[in-house]
Amino acid sequence: MRLNKISHKKTVVTILMLVNVCMLVLLVLSNNLLLPEYSLVIGGMSLPVFSLNGAIQLIMFLCCILITLISYKTGARLSFGLMVIVTLYDLLGIMRTHSLGPLPGMISALLAIGAIFIISKQFRVLEKENLTDYTTGLYNMRGFLETVDAKIAARRPFTVIYFRIDNFRAINDNLGYDMGTKLLKEIGRHLTEMVNGYGTVCKIGGSAYALVADVDFDMPAFRKGMKERFGGKFVLEEGDFPVYCYPGVCAGSTRYPEDALDANSLIKYADIALCHAMKAHTNSLISFNEEMGSEILKQNEIEGLVKECLAGDYFYLMYQPQYETKTKQLRGFETLLRTLLPNGKTASPADFIPVAEKTNLIIQIDTYVLKRALTEMVEYISGYEQDITLSVNVSANSMTRENFADQVAAVLKETGFPADRLELEITEYSLAESESMTIQNITALRKMGVKIALDDFGTGYTSLAQLVKLPINLLKIDKSLIDDIETSEMSRDFVNVVIYMGHLMNCEVISEGVESQMQVDMLREQNCDYVQGFVWDRPLYYEAAVAMLGKRK
Ligand code: C2E
Ligand code: MG
Ligand code: MG
Repeated sequence: MRLNKISHKKTVVTILMLVNVCMLVLLVLSNNLLLPEYSLVIGGMSLPVFSLNGAIQLIMFLCCILITLISYKTGARLSFGLMVIVTLYDLLGIMRTHSLGPLPGMISALLAIGAIFIISKQFRVLEKENLTDYTTGLYNMRGFLETVDAKIAARRPFTVIYFRIDNFRAINDNLGYDMGTKLLKEIGRHLTEMVNGYGTVCKIGGSAYALVADVDFDMPAFRKGMKERFGGKFVLEEGDFPVYCYPGVCAGSTRYPEDALDANSLIKYADIALCHAMKAHTNSLISFNEEMGSEILKQNEIEGLVKECLAGDYFYLMYQPQYETKTKQLRGFETLLRTLLPNGKTASPADFIPVAEKTNLIIQIDTYVLKRALTEMVEYISGYEQDITLSVNVSANSMTRENFADQVAAVLKETGFPADRLELEITEYSLAESESMTIQNITALRKMGVKIALDDFGTGYTSLAQLVKLPINLLKIDKSLIDDIETSEMSRDFVNVVIYMGHLMNCEVISEGVESQMQVDMLREQNCDYVQGFVWDRPLYYEAAVAMLGKRK
């Protein structure tokens, strides 16, 4: 599409240039220096050929302006050159003939030169604004794409480094917008220094930068620079009241042409490498490799499988019981999604949910699970004499949607499921994505009576300040936190503190992934309200879960 446009422009400029060359030849021919005695006879009237000069030069003038408007770089240069030739030619005519006949033509050529200059200058300013990030003055995403396209067109190898500030949101929230902006500028400045003329630094997103580095770029020095410049305290303002932060940064890199051949793939692969860097440790730079390439293939396969499951309704739900720690009384069930294709292929949600989250298929999945779980369970849960809670996992993508609470209200209405028996499990990533929208949705859901649980607690980066603001009912301690409580005193103390903190926040606390009786005993001692795990029940098929409710009815 873009190439088509470029070749179209080239054709038009070439045609206009040809017209100009023809006009130049005609100008020379019509000039009385060469053919003084020729005249055109039109309708019985004789017109000396040289009197056409004005018209010819006007046509050239218009063509040059058009060329400049279409291609303000090469076109403007060509037009400028042509108009200078015409000016000199007219000047020569004046000097040779000692007459002012060519003067009007010369004035129009000079005017054309001025117009070409002004137009191309204006275009340059506009283009610079279009390609520039307002905050840092660096190239923006468009500038990045143009830089990469130019490099690809020149067939020169280069490296793309995708660079991100890990905790920019928290810094922005804690230190304020001004300091956030200052941090972005400072990091841009440091990166430009580190690139040291061997590449271009672009700011392609909120806290993301992309570097297009030449072959001579010193990667080991850059890696070292990342640790030295961003690894510790980063001073934003000195003086009596210094302002500083600790911006964890990460980077991923890809090479042209080894890894990918176009700008979008390069940035996508660099992003994948960046995700690996984020998981590794802060201030690390990881290069894209073959293994990551096969990961992409696997992700594509999973994405296909999810789409097939959605289209063919090959999903089903399992329900894992949750129990009161002290009495082993049933609290409720967590809904867990499973797949089964007719060819027997399956996938674990631990694998396909993250892929679905990247492609936004998760919105369809979340809607499907909520509707199906409430439909399947409404009869048994609303008819049960005790409060039984049905928990449904909700991804950050859904929780940060503007109308999510309304959607839940509609499903509750449609299925007749009692709102106060529904619990939605959200993760800390919802807060990272959009804290205000998440809180807005939670508040609306709580007003409807729906309970909110914070899943996988202990694996994310929620600050205590954020946590206190959250109107949640239940804190779910992640399995990884309780795995070692039998053997490690530190682990035990840590879980103890988390339970205590949950209670301080007026939340109940549940431990998930509990596998041994000893863990249950310890959690009971630490006043953990509920337990969910293989120790008492694995996820149950729908029929088994319903039978469990039936038995107790
Ligand atoms: P989660 O919400 O933290 O779910 C708990 C996971 O731990 C489940 O894995 C469950 O089967 C597993 N589990 C429970 N008890 C034990 C135990 O004692 N030992 C061990 N090793 N594992 C235990 P599952 O079903 O594979 O789900 C994995 C993750 O996938 C879930 O973690 C959740 O984040 C996501 N997920 C599952 N179903 C859905 C869904 O319907 N919607 C969304 N958005 N996410 C879902
Ligand atoms: Mg969960
Ligand atoms: Mg969990």
